[in-house]
Amino acid sequence: MKTAIVGGGAAGFFLAINLKEMCPKMNVTIFEKSKKVLAKVEVSGGGRCNCTNSFAAVSDLSQVYPRGHRLMKRLFKTFDYRDAYDWFERRGVRLVTQDDECVFPASQDAHTIINLFLAEARRHAIDICTGHRITSLDELADYDFIAVTTGGGTASMAGVPVIEPVPSLFTFSINDEALCALMGTVVEEVTTYIPGTGFRASGPLLITHWGMSGPAILRLSSYAARELHEHNYQMPLAVNWTNRKDPEIMQELQEIINHHPQKQIATIRPFDLPSRLWTYLTEKALGERATNRWQNLNKKELNRLVNILCNDSYQIAGRAAFKDEFVTCGGVSLSAVNPNTLESRDRPHLYFAGEVLDIDGVTGGFNFQAAWTTAYTVAQAITSNMSNMGQT
Ligand SMILES: Cc1cc2nc3c(=O)[nH]c(=O)nc-3n(C[C@H](O)[C@H](O)[C@H](O)COP(=O)(O)OP(=O)(O)OC[C@H]3O[C@@H](n4cnc5c(N)ncnc54)[C@H](O)[C@@H]3O)c2cc1C
Repeated sequence: MKTAIVGGGAAGFFLAINLKEMCPKMNVTIFEKSKKVLAKVEVSGGGRCNCTNSFAAVSDLSQVYPRGHRLMKRLFKTFDYRDAYDWFERRGVRLVTQDDECVFPASQDAHTIINLFLAEARRHAIDICTGHRITSLDELADYDFIAVTTGGGTASMAGVPVIEPVPSLFTFSINDEALCALMGTVVEEVTTYIPGTGFRASGPLLITHWGMSGPAILRLSSYAARELHEHNYQMPLAVNWTNRKDPEIMQELQEIINHHPQKQIATIRPFDLPSRLWTYLTEKALGERATNRWQNLNKKELNRLVNILCNDSYQIAGRAAFKDEFVTCGGVSLSAVNPNTLESRDRPHLYFAGEVLDIDGVTGGFNFQAAWTTAYTVAQAITSNMSNMGQT
């Protein structure tokens, strides 16, 4: 029996290797349109490949998979992050878990993963046809099984319902010279949100020369990917710089007033905010009165300061890539596949795995984990389909 895998990326290789391990007699061919396989793995995680996550900080999969969390929960029963971790370690790739729960090869080099995949492909005699773009599944008519692992935004040839692909995981351009002058400033724990919507995200925020970046922005871009696209990346943005509610902020400012009435506002910073950011925020809230002493703040000014600390408003003016990284929100509709096997509901023996599906995660190794989990599921489904056909 023969299986064609369309796409020589993370999902394609993981599927091919597992399929050969499960049914060694299967002939497996990977078709890759470009000259090079595993190109994204090579550049992933800044060349280090953040290959999964410990999930220790994840209480609900919807936090990390804005699209596809229910399906991921179901498929994790078969192959989850612990299985992925063991899979690599059992094949000699030592992994390390960072303090932020991201998992990398101990070598800190994506080539460790690539070399493993290429060695396993050789060992299992998997055919790899590079420079071979599949434009229609009719080209693969003499294969018993087809698995499409073509990555984001590339499902058109499969003839299945597709949710329009749009980018996810990007940073925000903001036209605010005074803000952008603070480039390089990091605030460790902020909450960002899009007013009037339920989208909000917490984490570190980095001010850049074009606007804002960092996990609190990337997560928000992922949660609101489709709405941002629909609004042409022009939407309001609000930042809570303190991650606290108004009364708590008011109390902190009152305490400063009580203990340091004579000090200038610029010299005492609440919540340990970076000094240049504090100056920017006080000038935004108080204008020239920002040079005053704490005791001179009147009630109205105090309220303005509280408001800017927890509800600072901006206008998103466009999107920018994060170190060229983005994943695709959208792809093959999950309603078009059997959720247990990822086989097309319309066309038997046609399967999908990886980013081509309408599953995507936030940064932190979650996207590769989705590739491993879905690819493993398909390998298992093809194997069981084959044994049902009386072939082993
Ligand atoms: C710069 C960057 C860094 C990233 N870093 C991380 C990270 O550290 N951790 C993480 O979890 N995720 C990361 N991601 C996301 C991750 O790389 C993807 O989610 C993952 O590669 C998806 O795997 P895939 O096999 O589904 O698709 P891909 O890796 O995109 O592979 C699809 C392959 O199919 C081929 N193909 C497409 N159409 C055809 C066709 N018609 N015929 C033949 N071949 C075709 C493509 O050329 C490609 O090689 C990163 C993404 C980028 C862009």
